Amino acid sequence: MAKTILIVEDEQNIVDILSFNLRREGYETMEAYDGPTGLELALTKNPDLILLDLMLPGMNGFQVCKQIRASGSSIPILMLTAREEESDKVLGLELGGDDYITKPFSMRELMARVKANIRRVEMQPAPVKEKPDLSPIRLGRVTIDRERCVVTKDDIVLELTQREYDLICFLASQPGRAFSRETLMEKVWNYEGYVGDVRAVDVAVRRLREKLEDNPASPRFILTRRGLGYLFAG
Ligand code: CA
Repeated sequence: MAKTILIVEDEQNIVDILSFNLRREGYETMEAYDGPTGLELALTKNPDLILLDLMLPGMNGFQVCKQIRASGSSIPILMLTAREEESDKVLGLELGGDDYITKPFSMRELMARVKANIRRVEMQPAPVKEKPDLSPIRLGRVTIDRERCVVTKDDIVLELTQREYDLICFLASQPGRAFSRETLMEKVWNYEGYVGDVRAVDVAVRRLREKLEDNPASPRFILTRRGLGYLFAG
């Protein structure tokens, strides 16, 4: 069945070019030209992915994203930002956006992102083709119950997002080994051959540390290896 993409964007020419290209790739599209309509369609029409502009009439993209997440929806949200400011991108990710793309973007890059984010969701019920290893991971004070997808520290359950869970699972499955941000984008975010902005990894690691570490400023579990990347202390 065709996947449906909700486009929330107030610039008609961008909406037109996005719908044209997405439809050509076999997607169905829905369009909203302001924040409140976008939010309503997101919550009632159950699209497979949302392309969400930041600067929108009525309600900006940050607010729309926040409310979609507050409703409990984990639908992939790709933020479209015209601005180069890092703070915008990071804020978008903090509020629950899965990814962002800066305008002007190439249609090829946008399609790759759309596909990767939809694939990530599809892969979640069955993460790997062969039977996944669901044995628990126990590393000192941290235990990952991979049957129930629950992480505990000192027997207290950590409230993690799906992405934070995927990230800690991946790092903890090979403790002591450092992974580059690019590798994490490939393995945890499912971008094949990822090149480009890897800030999403830093944001996810920071949020994970806030939940996991005794003192996030001086992490003991998820460590940074300068020039190499991140690792789970073995
Ligand atoms: Ca706009």
